[in-house]
Amino acid sequence: MITDIKGLHHVTSMAADANTNNDFFTQTLGMRRVKKTVNFDAPEVYHLYYGDEVGTPGSVMTYFPFGRMPSGRRGVGEVGVTEFAVPKGSLGFWREHLAAQGVTGIADGKDFGEARLNFAGPDGDGFALVETEERGRAAWTGNGIGSDVGVLGFNGARFSLRNADATGELLEFMGYQKSETDGNVTRYLIEGGNAADTIDLEELPDAPAAGGGAGSVHHIAFAVEDRAAQLRVRQALMDTGYQVTPVIDRDYFWAIYFRTPGGVLFEIATNEPGFNRDEDTAHLGEALKLPSRYEPHRTQIEQILPKLAA
Ligand code: ZN
Repeated sequence: MITDIKGLHHVTSMAADANTNNDFFTQTLGMRRVKKTVNFDAPEVYHLYYGDEVGTPGSVMTYFPFGRMPSGRRGVGEVGVTEFAVPKGSLGFWREHLAAQGVTGIADGKDFGEARLNFAGPDGDGFALVETEERGRAAWTGNGIGSDVGVLGFNGARFSLRNADATGELLEFMGYQKSETDGNVTRYLIEGGNAADTIDLEELPDAPAAGGGAGSVHHIAFAVEDRAAQLRVRQALMDTGYQVTPVIDRDYFWAIYFRTPGGVLFEIATNEPGFNRDEDTAHLGEALKLPSRYEPHRTQIEQILPKLAA
């Protein structure tokens, strides 16, 4: 069994309009944009990262805003809900704030005894805020959302699956422990993690397959401390029969990817080197950062990319 995984590292989704996406995460949710770079395979598309002050692994929501992309279709074989952790007693603030900002799909819920507020992102993204203990995490307050209510990072994610058995077995192999079941949802938790430690598997045997598009999660990344741990995880997965990519340098972390039995694309990402490797913490996310191979094309790329509000 794998013992190196510490919870979530980041979640990467697709969006339509870059400015709508940027405004939603920075202004509506109050998160910090910690990196403004481009899709490494399509440098005419941004890769935007939002998180806490430094983009701590377990807090980082990332987007590819493709422009005029049709919305995805919710269904099985995807991450259905990305869950953000907020402090105890803050859901009343969020209910009013999100409504005042014109956010749709706002609905109270209670799963596993936890109060949660479900809502939709600008492209129909499935989101929830879940009240949790702070567990050493702190919200970014630079965009006007106070530390008593601000987003602490991820709580976890909920997968929508036709059958959850094989994905559950994989999570257990990755170090998660099967916890409770509430209706058609089974919870998996990881001990000693980074607090972004909850994966819920929702079984929807009759639902249609998800169709990817704006508002869909592209992949979900799990955190390991360093490259040595990543190589251990890669070997263990391959020994179990998973087809795992070689290690890829993503500038701010090292990544490997593999497709899981339920259809969700998993990544294992290192906590090193982090988002302040090429920018001071005080100015994270302000300048356009390009991977070195695109630096000679900076002028053209800057002309194509839409200007973003700070
Ligand atoms: Zn990723």
